[in-house]
Amino acid sequence: MNPINIDYDKCTGCMACRNICPTGAIKIKINSKGFEYPDIDKNICINCGICDRICPITINKKEPKRITNNPIKVYAAKNKVENIREKSSSGGVFYEISELILDKMNGCVCGAVYDKDFEVKHIMTSKKEKRNYMQGSKYVQSQMGYLYKEIEEKLKNNQVVLFTGTPCEVDGVYNYLASKNIDTTNLYTCDIICHGVPSPGIYKQYLKKLEEKFSSKIKSINFRYKENNYTQNIKIEFENGKQYISNYFKGDELYNLFLKDYILRDSCYRCNYASTKRVADITIGDFWGIEKTIENFDDKKGVSLVLINTEKGKAIFGKVSDKFNLIESNIEDCMQNNLKKPCDIPQNYDELWKIYEKNGFLGICDYIKNL
Ligand SMILES: Cc1cc2nc3c(=O)[nH]c(=O)nc-3n(C[C@H](O)[C@H](O)[C@H](O)COP(=O)(O)OP(=O)(O)OC[C@H]3O[C@@H](n4cnc5c(N)ncnc54)[C@H](O)[C@@H]3O)c2cc1C
Repeated sequence: MNPINIDYDKCTGCMACRNICPTGAIKIKINSKGFEYPDIDKNICINCGICDRICPITINKKEPKRITNNPIKVYAAKNKVENIREKSSSGGVFYEISELILDKMNGCVCGAVYDKDFEVKHIMTSKKEKRNYMQGSKYVQSQMGYLYKEIEEKLKNNQVVLFTGTPCEVDGVYNYLASKNIDTTNLYTCDIICHGVPSPGIYKQYLKKLEEKFSSKIKSINFRYKENNYTQNIKIEFENGKQYISNYFKGDELYNLFLKDYILRDSCYRCNYASTKRVADITIGDFWGIEKTIENFDDKKGVSLVLINTEKGKAIFGKVSDKFNLIESNIEDCMQNNLKKPCDIPQNYDELWKIYEKNGFLGICDYIKNL
């Protein structure tokens, strides 16, 4: 058997292969654009081929196999508690689902947090204080580490687990567990509608530039600071008491590179999951364009789009639905780009990355200003 032949255009970095490898032969390599890729140490690899057999790319070939139908229910949701919605990116749906898992089901929650250096990583927790750090979108690819092994252990001990993340990460979890014949009755999954994940390498340099500009270390980051009827501001607080608030329209460099689609992972431009056929039990996102179909619901403080994809998803969302101002919608009325197709590669994408190779992050900051 052969180990996985890493297809750099398609590898999502879900790291299921690294988690499954029986000899620890799969290390991490950072590519020139700042993304993590699996890297096989041929001296340790025993050619068992398990990494290839569980890889979502190998399994899915053309499209994900897990769910073949459109969602069974579609909702617009706003958390009734303002403070929860304020700390969430959209309408605060993640918070209530995770609250149910922690409070009523004695379970654990997996999601993306900042570590002490503001790198974004997936962790598992049964504690609410740590769960709170998962609130809010971090617009950078999250590091998965060996989280799938932890999920396996919890499920083997009959504990409930909620996994939240991008659809490719959710698919990685399912493939990993299936290959080990783990019973997934106690696993609940929630994916986000995903524009694509930005480069951790670029994000790091963006933070460094701001720390230099403000002559201070960063104390907190909020990608979805809600201010002046706009929910996509970035707010960064510094240890010296200063703060930076900006957004796409005010020229924030990271938001511009992200939303103009320059710094997404290569696989994001070929994403198989950018569809209404979802891999998770529940999908959450922003209900962009809601004003066109539901009047007087959008108060510019964040409205969630909730897609209920499975009976399991329906059961758990049913238990928290009273926490929201909720309106039923349908799949036609909630369509947005990344439910239809992946982002396109921008015209001058290669040019931007050439400039990056030559002049680094500052070079592309200048370049993006003139686009
Ligand atoms: C990279 C990225 C791209 C997105 N693109 C879109 C889009 O195109 N359209 C759209 O409608 N919504 C998109 N979203 C989702 C949206 O920003 C909100 O996360 C979602 O609406 C949930 O909001 P909430 O209020 O329920 O909860 P929140 O508290 O904001 O949700 C937090 C949840 O997001 C997860 N999360 C945060 N950062 C990451 C990350 N880097 N990787 C994986 N999981 C993460 C946490 O684990 C937690 O489950 C994107 C999110 C991310 C992270």
